[in-house]
Amino acid sequence: MPGEFALIDRIRARVRSRADVLLGIGDDAAVLRVPAGHDLVVTSDTLVSGVHFPAETSPADIGWKALAVNLSDLAAMAATPAWCTLAITLPDADGDWVDAFLDGFLDLAQQHDVCLVGGDTTRGPLSITVTAHGIVPEGLALRRDGAHAGDEVWVTGSIGDAAGALAQWRARGPSSAKLRYRLDRPTPRVAAGLALRGIATAGIDLSDGLAADLGHVLAASGLGARIDLGRLPTSRTLADHFDEAQRWPLQLSGGDDYELCFTAPASAAFGIEKALASCGVTGTVIGQLVTEPGLHCTTPEGEDYVPAAAGFEHFQGVH
Ligand code: ADP
Ligand code: MG
Repeated sequence: MPGEFALIDRIRARVRSRADVLLGIGDDAAVLRVPAGHDLVVTSDTLVSGVHFPAETSPADIGWKALAVNLSDLAAMAATPAWCTLAITLPDADGDWVDAFLDGFLDLAQQHDVCLVGGDTTRGPLSITVTAHGIVPEGLALRRDGAHAGDEVWVTGSIGDAAGALAQWRARGPSSAKLRYRLDRPTPRVAAGLALRGIATAGIDLSDGLAADLGHVLAASGLGARIDLGRLPTSRTLADHFDEAQRWPLQLSGGDDYELCFTAPASAAFGIEKALASCGVTGTVIGQLVTEPGLHCTTPEGEDYVPAAAGFEHFQGVH
């Protein structure tokens, strides 16, 4: 599109390189050096305006989130983020929009020493695709299929805040800036993912809601889980705005938490607490894996609770 190269120059001027980037933005492709004895971990996620974020979301928040959701995937693999590419589709060559987008995107990239090494710039309805690359010592990627019956199920941080913000936004009533911040500026649990390397048996990041995402671990590992709803880690803000009965659907079937859910034998619990504490993240055991398939949730009163089937609901048709 007209102005495409001016936009690319603008992006390139703000990128901070790394020693392992032999060739970054500007050639036909990037050349990157993977350290000996390491595996390359690659993930990609697209955000479409009006589908993955409300159309009025600020460009800086969109930039942050576009990278955050990818770094969250790398965290869930226990990989160290290294590089990324950015494919950006814009209605017009709006330099100010790109600058503001980069404020959020590069803020997070620099916090994790991730180098933007290339991408694509095209015209069309606003959509962002980021591909992120991480490295992990050979064989140590944290997969979904390594869980064992009897393992405990853990969740980092707290869950349900982003879904709470989304519910408030949809209702167009009172809203909490704190909850909204968790929707717009998710924190990828990169340090926590690295700390779990070699300790956790399986892991996943919570993008589509606990029930759906834990369900993927259960399916991959051929197991079931018993989850105690009274133990779901809940922020004070979420509890202030939603009672238990309103909270559980947000925590189980809402999405966009970008916390990690992982499994480990009970004997590893103390080591996990120490490892997570060293990176300033809380961890909570919410249940246990069992051989019987399916997800069984129990209320604090001991009653069975069936989560809503749907995971994350896109913003389809909402502008
Ligand atoms: P080609 O025609 O070879 O695909 P492009 O003109 O699309 O090259 O891109 C020129 C250079 O700019 C390439 O190195 C590409 O990776 C980089 N690039 C294009 N768009 C972006 C972007 N949005 N972010 C970062 N790098 C980009
Ligand atoms: Mg191109």
